[in-house]
Amino acid sequence: MMSSRPLPAQTGRMPHAATLRLPRPAARAETPEPLPVMRPRLPSAAEIFPYLQSIDEARWYSNYGPLVTRLEQQVALRLGMTAGGVVTTASATAGLTAALLARRARAGSFCLMPSWTFAATPHAARAAGLIPWFHDVLRSTWALDPGAVRETLKHLAGKVGAVIAVSPFGAPLELAPWRDVEEQTGIPVVVDAAAGFDTAVAGPIPQVVSLHATKILGAGEGGFVATADPELRLRLAACCNFGFLNARSAVSPALNAKMSEYHAAVALAALAAWPATRALHARIAGWYQKALARCEIARCEIARCEAVSLQPGYGSGWATGTTNVILPRPAEAVARQLRRAGIETRAWWGQGCHVQPAFADCPRGPLPVTEELGASVLGLPHFPDMRERDVERVAEALMNTM
Ligand SMILES: *Cc1c(COP(=O)(O)O)cnc(C)c1O
Repeated sequence: MMSSRPLPAQTGRMPHAATLRLPRPAARAETPEPLPVMRPRLPSAAEIFPYLQSIDEARWYSNYGPLVTRLEQQVALRLGMTAGGVVTTASATAGLTAALLARRARAGSFCLMPSWTFAATPHAARAAGLIPWFHDVLRSTWALDPGAVRETLKHLAGKVGAVIAVSPFGAPLELAPWRDVEEQTGIPVVVDAAAGFDTAVAGPIPQVVSLHATKILGAGEGGFVATADPELRLRLAACCNFGFLNARSAVSPALNAKMSEYHAAVALAALAAWPATRALHARIAGWYQKALARCEIARCEIARCEAVSLQPGYGSGWATGTTNVILPRPAEAVARQLRRAGIETRAWWGQGCHVQPAFADCPRGPLPVTEELGASVLGLPHFPDMRERDVERVAEALMNTM
Protein backbone atom coordinates (compact mmCIF):
# COMPACT_ATOMS: atom_id res chain seq x y z
CA MET A 1 0.00 0.00 0.00
CA MET A 2 1.77 3.10 -1.19
CA SER A 3 -0.89 5.69 -0.55
CA SER A 4 0.29 7.35 2.64
CA ARG A 5 4.06 6.86 2.18
CA PRO A 6 5.30 6.94 5.77
CA LEU A 7 8.84 8.16 6.21
CA PRO A 8 11.38 5.43 6.94
CA ALA A 9 11.99 5.07 10.67
CA GLN A 10 15.76 5.48 10.47
CA THR A 11 15.58 9.08 9.31
CA GLY A 12 14.52 10.01 12.83
CA ARG A 13 12.38 12.84 11.51
CA MET A 14 9.96 14.52 13.86
CA PRO A 15 6.47 15.05 12.53
CA HIS A 16 5.48 18.68 12.18
CA ALA A 17 3.73 20.05 15.22
CA ALA A 18 1.07 21.51 12.93
CA THR A 19 0.04 18.11 11.57
CA LEU A 20 -0.28 16.65 15.08
CA ARG A 21 -2.14 19.67 16.44
CA LEU A 22 -0.17 19.61 19.66
CA PRO A 23 -1.04 22.18 22.27
CA ARG A 24 1.31 25.12 21.92
CA PRO A 25 4.20 24.70 24.37
CA ALA A 26 4.31 27.52 26.87
CA ALA A 27 8.09 27.92 26.62
CA ARG A 28 9.56 28.07 23.13
CA ALA A 29 9.12 26.41 19.79
CA GLU A 30 11.06 23.25 19.11
CA THR A 31 14.14 23.42 16.91
CA PRO A 32 12.83 22.88 13.41
CA GLU A 33 13.73 19.61 11.71
CA PRO A 34 16.80 20.00 9.53
CA LEU A 35 16.12 20.25 5.81
CA PRO A 36 18.98 18.96 3.63
CA VAL A 37 19.92 20.74 0.42
CA MET A 38 19.86 17.41 -1.39
CA ARG A 39 18.98 13.82 -0.61
CA PRO A 40 19.32 11.69 -3.74
CA ARG A 41 17.23 8.56 -4.18
CA LEU A 42 18.51 6.02 -6.68
CA PRO A 43 16.76 2.78 -7.66
CA SER A 44 16.29 0.28 -4.83
CA ALA A 45 18.09 -3.05 -4.62
CA ALA A 46 14.86 -4.77 -5.69
CA GLU A 47 14.61 -2.62 -8.81
CA ILE A 48 18.23 -3.31 -9.75
CA PHE A 49 18.16 -7.04 -9.00
CA PRO A 50 16.79 -8.36 -12.33
CA TYR A 51 19.54 -6.51 -14.17
CA LEU A 52 22.19 -7.99 -11.86
CA GLN A 53 20.83 -11.45 -12.58
CA SER A 54 21.23 -10.85 -16.29
CA ILE A 55 24.87 -9.88 -15.68
CA ASP A 56 25.40 -13.17 -13.81
CA GLU A 57 23.95 -15.04 -16.76
CA ALA A 58 25.85 -13.20 -19.47
CA ARG A 59 29.17 -13.11 -17.54
CA TRP A 60 29.95 -9.88 -19.39
CA TYR A 61 31.02 -7.13 -17.00
CA SER A 62 32.35 -4.23 -19.04
CA ASN A 63 33.55 -3.28 -22.57
CA TYR A 64 30.21 -2.38 -24.15
CA GLY A 65 28.29 -5.41 -22.86
CA PRO A 66 24.57 -6.10 -23.25
CA LEU A 67 23.32 -3.70 -20.53
CA VAL A 68 25.51 -0.81 -21.61
CA THR A 69 24.38 -1.41 -25.19
CA ARG A 70 20.75 -1.46 -24.11
CA LEU A 71 21.20 1.75 -22.15
CA GLU A 72 22.84 3.47 -25.12
CA GLN A 73 20.00 2.37 -27.39
CA GLN A 74 17.28 3.44 -24.95
CA VAL A 75 18.82 6.87 -24.42
CA ALA A 76 19.30 7.34 -28.18
CA LEU A 77 15.65 6.41 -28.70
CA ARG A 78 14.59 8.89 -26.01
CA LEU A 79 16.57 11.59 -27.80
CA GLY A 80 14.90 10.62 -31.06
CA MET A 81 18.22 9.87 -32.72
CA THR A 82 18.16 8.41 -36.20
CA ALA A 83 21.88 8.82 -36.88
CA GLY A 84 24.94 8.64 -34.69
CA GLY A 85 24.01 7.64 -31.18
CA VAL A 86 25.04 7.51 -27.56
CA VAL A 87 28.32 6.43 -25.94
CA THR A 88 28.10 5.69 -22.22
CA THR A 89 30.96 6.86 -20.00
CA ALA A 90 32.32 6.32 -16.50
CA SER A 91 31.42 9.93 -15.66
CA ALA A 92 30.50 13.16 -17.42
CA THR A 93 33.99 14.48 -16.65
CA ALA A 94 35.56 11.55 -18.51
CA GLY A 95 32.96 11.97 -21.26
CA LEU A 96 33.94 15.62 -21.72
CA THR A 97 37.62 14.73 -22.01
CA ALA A 98 36.81 11.96 -24.48
CA ALA A 99 34.59 14.31 -26.51
CA LEU A 100 37.39 16.91 -26.74
CA LEU A 101 39.84 14.20 -27.84
CA ALA A 102 37.35 12.80 -30.35
CA ARG A 103 36.86 16.30 -31.79
CA ARG A 104 40.65 16.51 -32.18
CA ALA A 105 41.03 19.73 -30.20
CA ARG A 106 44.71 20.60 -30.58
CA ALA A 107 46.72 19.84 -27.43
CA GLY A 108 48.24 22.97 -25.90
CA SER A 109 45.51 25.26 -27.26
CA PHE A 110 42.89 27.16 -25.28
CA CYS A 111 39.54 25.66 -24.45
CA LEU A 112 37.10 28.54 -24.11
CA MET A 113 34.44 27.91 -21.45
CA PRO A 114 32.44 29.74 -18.80
CA SER A 115 33.94 30.20 -15.38
CA TRP A 116 30.34 29.86 -14.16
CA THR A 117 30.35 26.06 -14.13
CA PHE A 118 31.37 23.13 -11.99
CA ALA A 119 35.10 22.41 -11.55
CA ALA A 120 34.71 19.28 -13.71
CA THR A 121 34.52 21.38 -16.91
CA PRO A 122 38.02 22.90 -16.69
CA HIS A 123 39.44 19.66 -15.22
CA ALA A 124 38.15 17.76 -18.25
CA ALA A 125 39.73 20.25 -20.65
CA ARG A 126 43.08 19.99 -18.87
CA ALA A 127 42.92 16.19 -19.05
CA ALA A 128 42.52 16.54 -22.83
CA GLY A 129 45.71 18.62 -22.96
CA LEU A 130 43.95 21.98 -23.29
CA ILE A 131 44.22 25.19 -21.29
CA PRO A 132 40.92 26.45 -19.84
CA TRP A 133 40.15 30.04 -20.94
CA PHE A 134 37.33 31.54 -18.89
CA HIS A 135 34.64 33.62 -20.57
CA ASP A 136 31.79 35.50 -18.93
CA VAL A 137 28.15 34.39 -19.22
CA LEU A 138 24.91 36.23 -19.96
CA ARG A 139 22.95 37.50 -16.98
CA SER A 140 19.69 36.47 -18.68
CA THR A 141 20.65 32.81 -19.24
CA TRP A 142 23.62 32.11 -16.92
CA ALA A 143 25.26 30.57 -20.02
CA LEU A 144 27.79 31.64 -22.67
CA ASP A 145 26.50 33.99 -25.36
CA PRO A 146 27.53 32.55 -28.76
CA GLY A 147 27.75 36.06 -30.25
CA ALA A 148 30.08 37.33 -27.53
CA VAL A 149 32.17 34.17 -27.83
CA ARG A 150 32.53 34.71 -31.57
CA GLU A 151 33.89 38.22 -30.91
CA THR A 152 36.37 36.89 -28.34
CA LEU A 153 37.50 34.20 -30.77
CA LYS A 154 38.50 36.93 -33.23
CA HIS A 155 40.95 38.32 -30.68
CA LEU A 156 42.30 34.88 -29.82
CA ALA A 157 42.64 33.81 -33.45
CA GLY A 158 44.65 30.63 -33.88
CA LYS A 159 44.95 29.95 -30.18
CA VAL A 160 41.63 28.28 -29.40
CA GLY A 161 41.20 24.54 -29.96
CA ALA A 162 37.67 24.04 -28.62
CA VAL A 163 34.71 25.67 -26.90
CA ILE A 164 32.68 24.07 -24.12
CA ALA A 165 29.18 25.52 -23.78
CA VAL A 166 27.70 24.64 -20.38
CA SER A 167 24.01 24.12 -19.69
CA PRO A 168 23.49 25.88 -16.33
CA PHE A 169 21.89 23.36 -13.96
CA GLY A 170 20.21 21.54 -16.84
CA ALA A 171 18.69 24.57 -18.63
CA PRO A 172 18.22 23.96 -22.37
CA LEU A 173 20.80 25.51 -24.70
CA GLU A 174 20.03 26.76 -28.18
CA LEU A 175 22.39 24.83 -30.43
CA ALA A 176 21.92 26.48 -33.84
CA PRO A 177 24.08 29.52 -32.91
CA TRP A 178 26.84 27.14 -31.78
CA ARG A 179 26.67 25.35 -35.13
CA ASP A 180 27.20 28.77 -36.75
CA VAL A 181 30.22 29.42 -34.53
CA GLU A 182 31.68 26.07 -35.59
CA GLU A 183 31.07 26.77 -39.25
CA GLN A 184 32.46 30.31 -39.15
CA THR A 185 35.54 29.57 -37.07
CA GLY A 186 36.26 25.87 -37.64
CA ILE A 187 36.54 25.50 -33.87
CA PRO A 188 34.69 22.47 -32.46
CA VAL A 189 32.07 22.95 -29.74
CA VAL A 190 31.22 20.42 -27.03
CA VAL A 191 28.22 20.86 -24.74
CA ASP A 192 28.56 20.15 -21.03
CA ALA A 193 24.95 19.22 -20.32
CA ALA A 194 25.93 17.31 -17.19
CA ALA A 195 22.72 18.24 -15.37
CA GLY A 196 20.70 18.20 -18.58
CA PHE A 197 19.25 14.71 -18.79
CA ASP A 198 15.83 16.25 -19.41
CA THR A 199 16.99 18.83 -21.96
CA ALA A 200 19.83 17.23 -23.95
CA VAL A 201 18.97 17.04 -27.64
CA ALA A 202 20.22 15.05 -30.59
CA GLY A 203 22.57 16.99 -32.85
CA PRO A 204 26.02 16.78 -34.33
CA ILE A 205 27.51 18.81 -31.46
CA PRO A 206 28.26 16.26 -28.74
CA GLN A 207 26.21 16.65 -25.57
CA VAL A 208 27.72 15.27 -22.40
CA VAL A 209 25.29 14.23 -19.65
CA SER A 210 26.11 13.03 -16.13
CA LEU A 211 24.44 10.12 -14.34
CA HIS A 212 26.09 10.97 -11.03
CA ALA A 213 23.99 10.31 -7.92
CA THR A 214 23.35 14.02 -7.42
CA LYS A 215 22.01 14.56 -10.93
CA ILE A 216 18.35 14.19 -11.89
CA LEU A 217 18.86 10.67 -13.29
CA GLY A 218 21.40 8.90 -11.12
CA ALA A 219 23.38 5.69 -11.60
CA GLY A 220 25.86 6.38 -8.79
CA GLU A 221 28.62 7.34 -11.19
CA GLY A 222 28.31 7.46 -14.96
CA GLY A 223 27.39 9.54 -17.95
CA PHE A 224 26.94 9.53 -21.68
CA VAL A 225 27.78 11.50 -24.78
CA ALA A 226 25.19 11.87 -27.53
CA THR A 227 26.02 12.90 -31.07
CA ALA A 228 24.11 12.61 -34.31
CA ASP A 229 27.40 12.39 -36.22
CA PRO A 230 28.01 8.65 -36.82
CA GLU A 231 31.72 9.03 -37.48
CA LEU A 232 32.20 11.12 -34.35
CA ARG A 233 30.29 8.53 -32.34
CA LEU A 234 32.74 5.83 -33.47
CA ARG A 235 35.76 7.96 -32.63
CA LEU A 236 34.21 8.80 -29.25
CA ALA A 237 33.81 5.13 -28.38
CA ALA A 238 37.47 4.62 -29.32
CA CYS A 239 38.55 7.60 -27.18
CA CYS A 240 36.72 6.03 -24.23
CA ASN A 241 38.42 2.67 -24.85
CA PHE A 242 42.21 3.14 -25.11
CA GLY A 243 41.96 4.46 -28.66
CA PHE A 244 40.97 1.04 -30.02
CA LEU A 245 38.74 1.29 -33.06
CA ASN A 246 38.47 -2.20 -34.48
CA ALA A 247 41.65 -3.82 -33.31
CA ARG A 248 43.80 -3.81 -30.19
CA SER A 249 45.95 -1.05 -31.58
CA ALA A 250 45.60 2.51 -30.31
CA VAL A 251 44.79 4.91 -33.15
CA SER A 252 44.37 8.12 -31.11
CA PRO A 253 44.96 9.72 -27.73
CA ALA A 254 42.40 8.20 -25.40
CA LEU A 255 41.51 7.12 -21.90
CA ASN A 256 39.52 4.37 -20.26
CA ALA A 257 36.19 6.09 -19.75
CA LYS A 258 33.94 3.06 -20.13
CA MET A 259 30.84 2.42 -18.07
CA SER A 260 30.62 -1.02 -16.44
CA GLU A 261 27.62 -3.34 -16.76
CA TYR A 262 26.91 -2.79 -13.06
CA HIS A 263 26.48 0.93 -13.50
CA ALA A 264 24.37 0.31 -16.58
CA ALA A 265 22.15 -1.92 -14.40
CA VAL A 266 21.45 0.98 -12.04
CA ALA A 267 21.04 3.41 -14.94
CA LEU A 268 18.52 1.13 -16.67
CA ALA A 269 16.51 0.78 -13.47
CA ALA A 270 16.61 4.58 -13.05
CA LEU A 271 15.54 5.06 -16.65
CA ALA A 272 12.55 2.74 -16.15
CA ALA A 273 11.44 5.03 -13.29
CA TRP A 274 12.23 8.26 -15.16
CA PRO A 275 8.68 9.49 -15.84
CA ALA A 276 7.85 9.26 -12.13
CA THR A 277 11.18 10.82 -11.11
CA ARG A 278 10.71 13.66 -13.56
CA ALA A 279 7.20 14.34 -12.26
CA LEU A 280 8.50 14.61 -8.67
CA HIS A 281 11.11 17.19 -9.68
CA ALA A 282 8.67 19.15 -11.83
CA ARG A 283 6.25 19.25 -8.90
CA ILE A 284 8.94 20.71 -6.63
CA ALA A 285 9.63 23.41 -9.24
CA GLY A 286 5.93 24.29 -9.33
CA TRP A 287 5.84 24.54 -5.55
CA TYR A 288 8.87 26.82 -5.47
CA GLN A 289 7.39 29.09 -8.12
CA LYS A 290 4.13 29.34 -6.22
CA ALA A 291 5.65 29.78 -2.75
CA LEU A 292 8.19 32.41 -3.82
CA ALA A 293 5.58 34.36 -5.77
CA ARG A 294 3.28 34.38 -2.74
CA CYS A 295 6.01 35.49 -0.35
CA GLU A 296 7.08 38.14 -2.80
CA ILE A 297 3.58 39.61 -2.98
CA ALA A 298 3.27 39.61 0.83
CA ARG A 299 6.60 41.37 1.16
CA CYS A 300 5.99 43.94 -1.52
CA GLU A 301 2.83 45.05 0.23
CA ILE A 302 4.96 46.15 3.17
CA ALA A 303 7.87 47.75 1.41
CA ARG A 304 9.41 48.14 -2.00
CA CYS A 305 11.69 45.23 -2.48
CA GLU A 306 14.15 43.74 -4.87
CA ALA A 307 13.06 40.32 -5.98
CA VAL A 308 14.42 36.92 -5.07
CA SER A 309 14.43 35.27 -8.49
CA LEU A 310 14.59 31.66 -9.49
CA GLN A 311 17.12 30.64 -12.15
CA PRO A 312 16.11 32.01 -15.58
CA GLY A 313 13.70 29.59 -17.24
CA TYR A 314 13.28 27.47 -14.10
CA GLY A 315 10.04 25.50 -14.15
CA SER A 316 9.26 26.40 -17.76
CA GLY A 317 8.87 22.96 -19.29
CA TRP A 318 12.17 21.39 -18.30
CA ALA A 319 13.02 19.47 -15.17
CA THR A 320 16.10 20.00 -13.03
CA GLY A 321 17.35 18.34 -9.87
CA THR A 322 18.50 21.59 -8.26
CA THR A 323 16.73 24.82 -7.36
CA ASN A 324 18.83 27.97 -7.51
CA VAL A 325 17.83 31.50 -6.68
CA ILE A 326 19.56 34.80 -7.25
CA LEU A 327 19.36 37.04 -4.20
CA PRO A 328 19.41 40.81 -3.74
CA ARG A 329 21.82 40.24 -0.82
CA PRO A 330 25.12 38.33 -0.51
CA ALA A 331 24.31 34.62 -0.71
CA GLU A 332 26.75 33.77 2.06
CA ALA A 333 24.92 35.85 4.67
CA VAL A 334 21.56 34.42 3.60
CA ALA A 335 22.98 30.87 3.77
CA ARG A 336 24.13 31.51 7.33
CA GLN A 337 20.71 32.75 8.38
CA LEU A 338 18.95 29.82 6.73
CA ARG A 339 21.30 27.40 8.47
CA ARG A 340 20.14 28.82 11.78
CA ALA A 341 16.59 27.98 10.73
CA GLY A 342 17.69 24.39 10.03
CA ILE A 343 17.75 24.84 6.26
CA GLU A 344 20.81 23.64 4.39
CA THR A 345 21.80 25.43 1.19
CA ARG A 346 24.74 25.23 -1.20
CA ALA A 347 26.46 27.59 -3.57
CA TRP A 348 26.78 24.81 -6.14
CA TRP A 349 29.25 26.64 -8.38
CA GLY A 350 30.80 28.81 -5.67
CA GLN A 351 32.22 32.02 -7.11
CA GLY A 352 33.04 30.38 -10.41
CA CYS A 353 36.08 28.35 -11.42
CA HIS A 354 38.51 31.22 -11.91
CA VAL A 355 38.85 31.83 -8.17
CA GLN A 356 39.58 28.17 -7.37
CA PRO A 357 43.30 27.55 -6.70
CA ALA A 358 43.61 24.87 -9.41
CA PHE A 359 42.45 27.34 -12.08
CA ALA A 360 43.74 30.64 -10.74
CA ASP A 361 46.48 30.70 -13.39
CA CYS A 362 44.10 30.12 -16.32
CA PRO A 363 43.71 32.98 -18.80
CA ARG A 364 40.35 34.75 -18.86
CA GLY A 365 38.36 37.70 -20.05
CA PRO A 366 36.41 40.15 -17.86
CA LEU A 367 33.94 38.25 -15.66
CA PRO A 368 31.49 40.78 -14.14
CA VAL A 369 28.38 38.61 -14.52
CA THR A 370 30.16 35.53 -13.16
CA GLU A 371 31.23 37.60 -10.15
CA GLU A 372 27.67 38.80 -9.60
CA LEU A 373 26.23 35.28 -9.88
CA GLY A 374 28.98 33.90 -7.66
CA ALA A 375 28.12 36.38 -4.92
CA SER A 376 24.36 36.06 -5.08
CA VAL A 377 23.26 32.62 -6.34
CA LEU A 378 22.26 30.01 -3.79
CA GLY A 379 21.03 26.42 -4.16
CA LEU A 380 17.96 25.69 -2.04
CA PRO A 381 16.79 22.30 -0.69
CA HIS A 382 15.59 20.07 -3.51
CA PHE A 383 15.13 16.31 -3.28
CA PRO A 384 12.59 13.91 -4.77
CA ASP A 385 10.56 13.22 -1.63
CA MET A 386 10.36 16.89 -0.62
CA ARG A 387 6.88 17.98 0.43
CA GLU A 388 5.03 21.17 -0.37
CA ARG A 389 5.22 22.31 3.25
CA ASP A 390 9.03 21.91 3.12
CA VAL A 391 9.13 24.22 0.10
CA GLU A 392 6.85 26.73 1.83
CA ARG A 393 9.07 26.66 4.88
CA VAL A 394 12.14 27.39 2.75
CA ALA A 395 10.37 30.23 0.94
CA GLU A 396 9.19 31.82 4.18
CA ALA A 397 12.58 31.49 5.87
CA LEU A 398 14.18 32.98 2.78
CA MET A 399 11.87 35.99 2.80
CA ASN A 400 12.59 36.49 6.49
CA THR A 401 16.26 37.00 5.63
CA MET A 402 15.50 39.86 3.21
C1 LIG B 1 28.05 17.33 -12.27
C2 LIG B 1 28.71 18.12 -13.32
C3 LIG B 1 29.83 17.62 -14.01
C4 LIG B 1 30.51 16.35 -13.62
O1 LIG B 1 29.76 15.19 -13.81
P1 LIG B 1 30.36 13.81 -13.30
O2 LIG B 1 29.47 12.77 -13.90
O3 LIG B 1 30.27 13.84 -11.81
O4 LIG B 1 31.76 13.70 -13.77
C5 LIG B 1 30.36 18.37 -15.04
N1 LIG B 1 29.84 19.57 -15.38
C6 LIG B 1 28.79 20.09 -14.75
C7 LIG B 1 28.23 21.41 -15.19
C8 LIG B 1 28.19 19.39 -13.69
O5 LIG B 1 27.15 19.93 -13.05
